[in-house]
This record gives sequence, C-alpha cells and structure tokens, in this order.
Amino acid sequence: MPRGKVALVTGAGKGIGAAIAGELARQGAKVVVVDIDRASAESCAASIVHEGGEALALQANVADPGQVKAVFQGAIEKFGSVDILVNNAGITRDALLIRMKEEDWDAVLAVNLKSAFLCTQEAARTMSKKRYGRIINISSVVGQMGNVGQANYCASKAGLIGLTYSNARELARRQVTVNAVAPGFIETDMTRALPEKTREELAAQIPLGSLGQVEDVTHAVVFLAGEKSGYITGQVLAVNGGMYM
Ligand code: NAP
Repeated sequence: MPRGKVALVTGAGKGIGAAIAGELARQGAKVVVVDIDRASAESCAASIVHEGGEALALQANVADPGQVKAVFQGAIEKFGSVDILVNNAGITRDALLIRMKEEDWDAVLAVNLKSAFLCTQEAARTMSKKRYGRIINISSVVGQMGNVGQANYCASKAGLIGLTYSNARELARRQVTVNAVAPGFIETDMTRALPEKTREELAAQIPLGSLGQVEDVTHAVVFLAGEKSGYITGQVLAVNGGMYM
C-alpha cells in the first residue's frame, strides 16, 4: 500500500495514466497528475479529490527538461517529496520504416524515452536523499517483440527496458527500486483507434483470448509502487494475456 506516499504520474490526464493515478490515490497516496493537456490533468485531479483523495494537477510536456524541473519543484513545494514515479506518458506516430519521417522518430523517442530519463533524474535526487523510492516505467509488449509500422515506438519501449535495468543497478544502493510494466494490447483510446479487423487479429494472438483492461495494468503498477515490493528491482512485469512469454 503506498499510503501516505507522494506519487507522480506522467501522461495521467486520461487512459492508463489516469487509472493509475486514481488507483494510487484510492490506496492512500497523494498524487501529482502531470499531463501535456491542462484540462485533462485538472479533471483527473478533480475526480481524485472528489473521491476524498489528495491531488495536484500540473501541465507539462515531459520531454522538455525545463518543464520537468518545474514539475518536480511544484510537486515538492506542495507535498514535500516524490516517493513514487510512474513514467507513463507515451505517443505513437506509426509508419512503415521506409516512410517514417525523422520528425516522427524524434517525437516518439522524446516523449516515450527521453521523458523517463529526465523525470528519473529529478526523482533520483529526492528519492536518494530519503533512501526510498519506487520508479515504474510503462513499456510495452512491442518493445519486447517488435511490431510492423512501429520502429520508433518499439525502439522507445525497448529503450525503456534498458533504462530500467541500468537505473535499477545504479539506484539500488539508495533503496530505490526501478521496474518496468510491459502491457500487451489494452482497451484505451490508443487501441480503440485500430480498425476492428486488426483488433480481432490481435485478440486471436493472445492466449487469454481478449485485449486487456486498464485495471490489469493499474494493479501491476500499484503492486510495484507499494512497500511490499521492496526486494523487486530491475524487472519487467508483462501484463499481456500471455501474448509474449
Ligand atoms: P493515451 O490514452 O494516449 O494517454 C497518454 C497520455 O499521455 C495522454 O493524456 C497524453 O496527452 C499524455 N501525453 C502525451 N504526450 C505527453 C507529453 N509530452 N507530456 C506529458 N503528457 C503527454 O495512452 P494510453 O493507452 O493510456 O497509454 C499510456 C502508456 O501505456 C503509454 O506509454 C503507452 O505507450 C503505454 N501502453 C499502452 C498500451 C495500450 O494498449 N493502450 C499498450 C502498451 C503500452 P494528450 O493525449 O492530451 O496529448
């Protein structure tokens, strides 16, 4: 249970991030809701407060170093520390390799991977001092097995796994754990945008027979964010219905 801890979730305005923020708050964490879209960050924070939790909404592009610094300053001013960091913000800019534009490569790598480096750097300062921290990177099954049309996205999600291993080794001596959660295909706006035929083909590849629900991911994240997971670090927890094993 992350009761009394301060959790910062990026890309928490909607989808998986909003669900993680909500569940961490229900488990007693104070939550900093960070999103590039101010209105959705505020609405997620408002629904946490409405349920009796504590939340702070901050608008930021987490691929921008200055904005990331400001977010951590704001979080620490309001709640005193950041004990749990969930690097969840992510985008797709799909295209077949030979047609992929350099700007789409750069954008995806910046939002999905560089943001995690920037946020972890800031979080590591405060967590190292406290000798306590939980960092969870939201990777993807396609970072483990690849996917046609997603060279940029798969590279960013595989990169997050390497970042997880390296940071886990580096921060272990400060009692800060770093793990990744690698969801399979989960019902969100990102996958609802896929054509019905593609969704059916995807479901056919999943041993458990269906796309996952957002809650499947949030429960894994909340477990890794809790105090009882303190001896688990440098792991990739797959939440993929058996799609990749
Ligand atoms: P989503 O519904 O698109 O939510 C992503 C959130 O991140 C949005 O609120 C988005 O804001 C925000 N965001 C985008 N760029 C940002 C930036 N530069 N700075 C701050 N916030 C930013 O996606 P999701 O499906 O919930 O996915 C969440 C995470 O899980 C992503 O990392 C995704 O790659 C990963 N994942 C998802 C699936 C799946 O099946 N859905 C599977 C594996 C992994 P706006 O939309 O307002 O721009």
